[in-house]
Amino acid sequence: MEELRSIKVINELGMHAHAAGQIVELAYKYRAKLFLRKDSREVDGLSILSILSLACPKGSEIKARIVGVDAKEFMDDLERLFKSKFGETEQGKYQPRKKIMKMKGFPVSPGITIGKAHHLDRSKTTIFYRKLINKKEIDKEINRFRQAVDMAKEQIQTFKSNITEQVKGYAFVLDTHSMILDDSLLFDSTIQRIKKGKVNAGWALKKSVNNIHHLFKKVEDEYIGRRMDDVDSVSERVLRNLTGVEPDSLAGIKKEVIIVAHSLSPCDIVEINVSHVMGILTDVGGRTSHMAIMSEALEIPVVVGLESATEIIVDGDLLIVDGNTGDIIINPGPDTIASYEEKRKRYNKYKSAVDRVRHLPAETSDGHKITIKANIEFLGETKSAIENGAEGIGLYRTEYLYMIKKDFPDEQTLIDDYSQIAKMVAPNPVTIRTLDIASDKMMTSDSEIGASKEDNPALGLRSIRFCLSERNVFKTQLRAILRASVYGNFRLMFPMISGLGQFLEAKRVLKSVMRSLDREGIEYNREIPVGILIEIPSATSIADILARHADFFSIGTNDLIQYALAIDRDNEHVAHLYEPFHPAVLRMIHQVVEAGNNEGIDVSLCGEIAGDPLAILILLSLGLEEFSMNIGSIPLIKKMIRMLPLREVRDQFKGILQLPTSEKVESFVLKKAQSLLPNIFKEGVFRYRAVGIG
Ligand code: PEP
Ligand code: MG
Repeated sequence: MEELRSIKVINELGMHAHAAGQIVELAYKYRAKLFLRKDSREVDGLSILSILSLACPKGSEIKARIVGVDAKEFMDDLERLFKSKFGETEQGKYQPRKKIMKMKGFPVSPGITIGKAHHLDRSKTTIFYRKLINKKEIDKEINRFRQAVDMAKEQIQTFKSNITEQVKGYAFVLDTHSMILDDSLLFDSTIQRIKKGKVNAGWALKKSVNNIHHLFKKVEDEYIGRRMDDVDSVSERVLRNLTGVEPDSLAGIKKEVIIVAHSLSPCDIVEINVSHVMGILTDVGGRTSHMAIMSEALEIPVVVGLESATEIIVDGDLLIVDGNTGDIIINPGPDTIASYEEKRKRYNKYKSAVDRVRHLPAETSDGHKITIKANIEFLGETKSAIENGAEGIGLYRTEYLYMIKKDFPDEQTLIDDYSQIAKMVAPNPVTIRTLDIASDKMMTSDSEIGASKEDNPALGLRSIRFCLSERNVFKTQLRAILRASVYGNFRLMFPMISGLGQFLEAKRVLKSVMRSLDREGIEYNREIPVGILIEIPSATSIADILARHADFFSIGTNDLIQYALAIDRDNEHVAHLYEPFHPAVLRMIHQVVEAGNNEGIDVSLCGEIAGDPLAILILLSLGLEEFSMNIGSIPLIKKMIRMLPLREVRDQFKGILQLPTSEKVESFVLKKAQSLLPNIFKEGVFRYRAVGIG
């Protein structure tokens, strides 16, 4: 006996897993056999995966065929099941759960927002293994791969031409993506794998990406590790082009929502329309991921590294996102909403007050001029630094161009980058730091230099030591810095100097580069100031000696604290011992300031603590008047400085160098801060607390 009937899928979610499961359950109750057909495909009604593979959304027509003795009863029951909408509620998938939950991640863009969750599916494309049989198939597959890569390049170019004003400064990230597509580790090696392994393009590409993952795994530096996000995002784009699977579109979002995604690529950030997207949450990502850096330019709250946001948050959940603290509240109650509405108002008021002063000079209320500059890592951050009120770049970390490609960058690539920054910032100065990289940090496995792996890279062949041992790499960078120096106002700084001999050696290399430029008749700034990044305790001890040979000092507390306290700054097990307010650290800073002042050279500070609202009070009291910091900290620090009477701070902080412990220093400073700047410290809006404080 055979029954045939057409049935319509009328439930919101379509024939999803739960519905398919109920069909299979029903099928097991009858002796007759069920077959379901959509278009030309018919599948077994006892296989949940086969039913799902029919991909039947709401409105689909299905042909049910039942063969066997009890076919009629079975068919009637089946029809009832479809009509019951498989027990789904009217609101379907958009019914939010009412359970209140909290999560915490890394805040990367400040602000508070309240809105509905919208999942963005960025799940990985599934790739199956396929063996290629003959040369014809191999050639065809290589062609397909080339086309998918070309298509990815075109897509990236389209993103670049549609880039919004807010994130324009980050267009270079898209260039990086195009460069990754051309990288032999990705491109050539995938073609080799297709040829030699006789496998399909998707499979070969996945293998190449796994190999790059493997190479990056050896790198302990979080910054370089995050570049893997870029490799993943680019390869995912190629895989989608190969399989023809369209990703969820951001451009399609028309309601005001908070995006919840596993990860977002820089291209996604470029596509975001801030009139619809009120905030962003991601499972993965750290503070230094491109996505995190770029998202700050959107000026909407962003929290990353939530690990399981996409699992816990359901589409349509009501969310509170606090981009200042990283707190997320899912389905909050009315009291919590009211208190966050209040907090949001206060924050917005505070932000517009801070923003109003960002272009005013950082002058204390008793008339002392303090200089505030920005630390940057990429050319793309320059615009944002200027817009946030930086009076120059106090630290350009030049490592980025050395990390994104397998080979060292050539002189012209460096000149192009450096001269653009010089021009953008002029007449204000740019302090350009020479390469601060460890030999084991190089991303390649097969470059001669990158091959050696050190057990203790923080104490190994890094930074100036590396440059002095790899003279050609060093000289190429020095030539580029000197040649770009004619476009603006550069200061040159050598990192990790531990003794006078080393500094003089670095200066000798610089002189020899100058002589060769002279011989070639190439212009450069002969008077370029040459300074030292003071970040090793031996340098603080002999700061008086070094000061006689340097044009300026910049104190790098990030490393100074690590080396002074013997605490690995990247090791979470000892993070609580990384104490920026340790009396030894304060005394070292003071010693350097005194040595610089006695010799009449500029002393500034460019470690992370410069952007910390409590630390800045101590640093001002120790005699520092120039700081370089994280761009996001500039407006608040400027506002604080404009409200501070410097003489009184110095008076009140006398005796700070005698305090015995970090805890005593912190409670002392907090008390003073609350009395000197009650409005700021009452609000507790400290976004950039240095690691280890509080
Ligand atoms: C420092 O060490 O304080 C510094 C400014 O440099 P980096 O954080 O790049 O090591
Ligand atoms: Mg350093």
